[in-house]
Amino acid sequence: MSTGKINVAVENIFPLIKKFLYSDHEIFLRELVSNATDATIKLKHLTSIGEAKVDYGNPIIEVKVDKEAKKLHIIDQGIGMTEAEVQKYINDIAFSGAEEFLDKYKDTAKDSGIIGHFGLGFYSAFMVASKVEIITKSYKDEPAVHWVCDGSPEFELTTAEKTKRGTEIILHIAEDSTEFLEEGRIRELLTKYNKFMPVPIKFGTKEEELPLPEDAAEDAEPETKTVDNIINNPNPAWTKQPTDLEDKDYKEFYRELYPMQFEEPLFHIHLNVDYPFNLTGILYFPRLGKDMNIQRDKIQLYQNQVFVTDNVEGIVPEFLTMLRGVIDSPDIPLNVSRSYLQADGAVKKISSYITRKVADKLKSLFNEDRADFEKKWDDIKVVIEYGMLSEEKFFDKAEAFALYPTVDGTYYTYPELEEKIKENQTDKDGKLIVLYASDKDAQHSYIASAKDKGYEVLLLNSPIVSHLLQKLETSKDKVSFVRVDGDDINNLIKKDEEHISKLSDEEKENLKKLLDETIADKAYTVKLEALDSTTAPFTITQPEFMRRMKEMQATGGGGGMFGMGNMPDMYNLVVNTNSELVGEILNTKTKKKQERLITQSLDLARLSQGLLKGEALTNFVKRSYEMIK
Ligand code: ADP
Repeated sequence: MSTGKINVAVENIFPLIKKFLYSDHEIFLRELVSNATDATIKLKHLTSIGEAKVDYGNPIIEVKVDKEAKKLHIIDQGIGMTEAEVQKYINDIAFSGAEEFLDKYKDTAKDSGIIGHFGLGFYSAFMVASKVEIITKSYKDEPAVHWVCDGSPEFELTTAEKTKRGTEIILHIAEDSTEFLEEGRIRELLTKYNKFMPVPIKFGTKEEELPLPEDAAEDAEPETKTVDNIINNPNPAWTKQPTDLEDKDYKEFYRELYPMQFEEPLFHIHLNVDYPFNLTGILYFPRLGKDMNIQRDKIQLYQNQVFVTDNVEGIVPEFLTMLRGVIDSPDIPLNVSRSYLQADGAVKKISSYITRKVADKLKSLFNEDRADFEKKWDDIKVVIEYGMLSEEKFFDKAEAFALYPTVDGTYYTYPELEEKIKENQTDKDGKLIVLYASDKDAQHSYIASAKDKGYEVLLLNSPIVSHLLQKLETSKDKVSFVRVDGDDINNLIKKDEEHISKLSDEEKENLKKLLDETIADKAYTVKLEALDSTTAPFTITQPEFMRRMKEMQATGGGGGMFGMGNMPDMYNLVVNTNSELVGEILNTKTKKKQERLITQSLDLARLSQGLLKGEALTNFVKRSYEMIK
């Protein structure tokens, strides 16, 4: 037997390890299982190149809880270590790694939140164990060794009996960490961190039914046998080639990732690149609907099939954090802060690769089956519209597949829309005027009146649409979007024939005066217009600019500096001087009767804009009953 002193400057490193990593104790298991996996994969490599002349077989890793003896075992069948290797890798290298780690993160550990992502390696075992043993036998023809350390820098090294190749790590679980002696807790950790690791991991056993013999009786009970309970899937879909996978495999993998999720994803995107960086993964579009506040931490980040985190902020462009799935890349530095990550060149490349790939996939889905894409549009539009707003490159690419549906369910791309309306929906300068509604019911009368005139009306109802329109107007420059109840569209859109006013200038002046006197509410600005006689006598519109700025403020960003959120709502009251009713108002003899007609008309206009509420509505209803009595 030999004893020795681990060569470190810090006299007692273990209390420090414990303290600094307090919140993330559980990662010790990930680290130890990762080491076991590495040792196994290394052996595979050495046998494949003929360096190790041993039979590789079908090695597994076993995790075993011995609650009574308060021990946790992690056993692999990998390359193992010779005595000299234990000296070198465990006593010298691993330890210095731990020390270096602590040195570097002493000050920042508390707030960085990155500790759990940093592989502290073998020594993280001391976060939960009061004593750690290593029993290991190298694939080389050398005796097995037994290393014991109780958390002080002193260790003990003896030869061991072990004859089978591989390493067994035994943790004597500390008094304050007995949660790690619970089978349920260990299973939870293995499922969280090791679910897709490349070597099978055995945790306990289970009963498996044997197939019934062919001549078995109808009511025969199948026999069972005890088999290893393998808790991971060593060959997850993302590690395979897209050509080897079918749609059902992707769906199956989705269920594996999100067992509690019953809805199927709309489509998937397989990521696969090895130059200039290494990245694989599968992203899924879930059914999103209009809700922007969906859970955003559903994409899991792996490094070589080891789970790292489900916070991919800074790695995936923000608009894609609404997606689900897996990203696996050994090239993402994790021992840095998030803000550093965002500035990192390699990470930027990864982020823009993902954006490009998502755009390409959307484009090909659109081209392959447009009808299907249109059907799914409502469920994916928030991601696409958000992406168009936040990533310039995505905005450009989205021209090919971003859709603008009409209230009647026709879906146009922007170029198609332009083509469709360029003849009869432009203003006097030739600028395209796109009409849209945000709510088919609330804006029904406005939609109907626009459609009567032969205009196309889009239905744009996602929560960020005001931002998107702003963006489209600035980048396309010869277009204005106007909501159907916005600035008087009758005047905006150039018409072949102008309507001539039936009223004389004097009549108009009188009418204006009468309306201004009668309408007390200063929120309404009266505007006289000579419109088609079938157009409603009174119509309330709201300036597009004002409304949109307010909306943008409510949904974050843009326009905030004007402080529009606090401005009272302002409306235009468009009075059609060519309508019969307006003529009647003018020609009515008594002032009282005139006022009644105006009040009633205004209330009707408010009603169709959804503005008539409370006492005003009650009065209106009462008054209307009086009138029909
Ligand atoms: P890292 O894995 O990051 O190199 P660790 O502290 O976890 O750092 O381990 C240090 C070294 O100890 C490893 O690089 C490896 O050579 C050796 N080692 C650890 N665990 C095992 C194991 N189960 N089998 C063989 N070698 C191991």
